[in-house]
Amino acid sequence: MRKPLIFGNWKMNLDMKQSDDLVRSLLGVKIDYRVVDVGVAPDFCSLASVVKTIKDMGVPISVAAQNMSAEEKGAYTGEVSADMILSTGADTVILGHSERRNLYGETDEVINLKVRQALRLKLNVILCVGELLEEREANVAVEKVLYQLSMGLNGVDTDGVQDVTLAYEPVWAIGTGKTATPADAQEMHAAIRGQLSKLYGPVIARKLRILYGGSVKPDNIGALMLREDVDGALVGGASLNAGDFVKLINFNN
Ligand code: PEP
Repeated sequence: MRKPLIFGNWKMNLDMKQSDDLVRSLLGVKIDYRVVDVGVAPDFCSLASVVKTIKDMGVPISVAAQNMSAEEKGAYTGEVSADMILSTGADTVILGHSERRNLYGETDEVINLKVRQALRLKLNVILCVGELLEEREANVAVEKVLYQLSMGLNGVDTDGVQDVTLAYEPVWAIGTGKTATPADAQEMHAAIRGQLSKLYGPVIARKLRILYGGSVKPDNIGALMLREDVDGALVGGASLNAGDFVKLINFNN
């Protein structure tokens, strides 16, 4: 069975102190890390201090960067490399988030370069895919998501893909308060797993986790997590509130 993973994406919302305070608020809260994996994605400036706080707390919380350069090193002002992320102690990077695609023009080709670079340096990847509202309305959502998936994983071999977690995030559900129904989420997750099975075989496809993201809240996570192919959640807004984030982590209690 796949262990559930609940990952908070803090986006550009918290400074170093606020990030530290939020992660500290998980200390002393009853979380059974044997049954659920937990991760947080602070901004670049807070990565190292959040990693240190988590180490001091002695809890197995994963830390992700929210973006990364596809380049290794050099004259790329303002960019952050995979090595730099690893040097903070972070273990994961979120790539292909719809805000990177839609606000910063990241193409599937660029995202694929980033995915390959991260995996080459042994940084785990959360690869986000998801359709726009007009694509869902035009009945091309599955086609679009599977295209993003295949492009994102182009050139990634069976070894590399084991360090990838997928996140299905319908763009119309992110930060809008609208969530895919559990049935719609399951349908897409099953299609993603089917495509992974075609690309990497059923054994690997069964092992890979597929998170759902898009206005996940304490009152809707339970129904989503009941679905067979929903293995966890990538959470924006609700992960900024310690109480809500803990409820999401403890969705099963
Ligand atoms: C996200 O940005 O990854 C996300 C899912 O945001 P929210 O939970 O706020 O919709």
